[in-house]
Amino acid sequence: MRTKTILLVDDEVDFSRLLKLNIEDSKEYKALTANDWQTALALVEQHHPDLVLLDMMMPGMTGIELLGRIKKLAPEIPVAMITAVWNEQEAKRAFDAGAYEYITKPVDFEYLRTALLVKLL
Ligand SMILES: [Mg+2]
Repeated sequence: MRTKTILLVDDEVDFSRLLKLNIEDSKEYKALTANDWQTALALVEQHHPDLVLLDMMMPGMTGIELLGRIKKLAPEIPVAMITAVWNEQEAKRAFDAGAYEYITKPVDFEYLRTALLVKLL
């Protein structure tokens, strides 16, 4: 089976590094990281990841806007949003814009893997 690629987009470098380590720990996935929206869009185009985990709060563009841009480039790629603060309105906006998940920090890695597996089967 081909190794699935997951793109992690978060402006917090330490957080994306931790997430990458956790995701690659299982050896089932390869993780790419982007710490700004420009890199995120470039990696979507170049690598066409199987899944994107996207931070809601980034400088220069909101997570929802970036979600829209990713969906325009590659509508078939599932995108899960990650947020520091739970907000019902934002969650609704994310789902309306095509996100399939909306999870809060600190990320429960067990849940994350389960959620990822479900989408990547
Ligand atoms: Mg952020």
